[in-house]
Amino acid sequence: MIIEFLGSGGAITTPRPGCRCAVCVEARQHGPPHSRSGPAIFVHGPQLLIDTPEEIKDQLNRAGIEDIQAGVYSHWHPDHTAGSRVWESLNNDWRSLPPRSRCTPVYLPRQVARDFEHRLGLAAKFAYYASLGVVEVHEIADGESFTAGDVRVEVLPLAETYVYAFVLHAAGRRALIAMDELVGWDPPPSARGVDLAIVPMGIPELHPLTGQRLIAAEHPVLAHEATFEQTLAIVSRIGAGRTILTHIEEAFGLRPAELEQVARRLREERGLAIEFAWDGLRVAVD
Ligand SMILES: [Zn+2]
Ligand SMILES: [Zn+2]
Repeated sequence: MIIEFLGSGGAITTPRPGCRCAVCVEARQHGPPHSRSGPAIFVHGPQLLIDTPEEIKDQLNRAGIEDIQAGVYSHWHPDHTAGSRVWESLNNDWRSLPPRSRCTPVYLPRQVARDFEHRLGLAAKFAYYASLGVVEVHEIADGESFTAGDVRVEVLPLAETYVYAFVLHAAGRRALIAMDELVGWDPPPSARGVDLAIVPMGIPELHPLTGQRLIAAEHPVLAHEATFEQTLAIVSRIGAGRTILTHIEEAFGLRPAELEQVARRLREERGLAIEFAWDGLRVAVD
């Protein structure tokens, strides 16, 4: 399987409308890897789409993806669900009579399905897509799996139990994909020693190169988001062959070249082999 980062950004994407900071100016000029659209991943092979941020239609067009066999959602937050209408765009047929709409199975982990019932009108939207015949929604119990092509997708609740990570099992290989909200997570055995781990980079409360404070110590975001340092500790416990950090927020103000420097320093000084994602990055797990 090949895993493609459709969007490596977080809740606030880069460039941020109206922002004239150096990172946003470069992103507007040059596009990826400087720009970062919302969090979404596509797994080539099983043709599995993970999350649908508002840019998902453009992301799929840019990546040239024509065939999607399954979808899954990590949690209800709008940066991961605001583009859900993509299922209608992809599958609805307005021309043929009778219509030949396609129908894609969309998997919702148990708590995600519960949250869709009272968050952002998501259950109503998916009931509408189902009534058009463009999706078929399947709920997955915690710790259970579903199958997409030759890949078994294990569904794991995180410590923040409204959010799920996925372990993809294929041909003796394992890839962990956690889209967001790693705070307090102790990875279970099936997530440890994977060939590839993809996790959110967390909040760099201190600039990872200069040590300068970026987020005020008493800022409430630090109470419910993993910091960059906490993320690195979790990454060590996961012990993956290769680790890629994503969900990189505009607010961090970190350029691709600076992130490369952070990765180099972590490798040299702490023996941590990590990389940072960018929009369009493809990684083979075989
Ligand atoms: Zn997010
Ligand atoms: Zn900016």
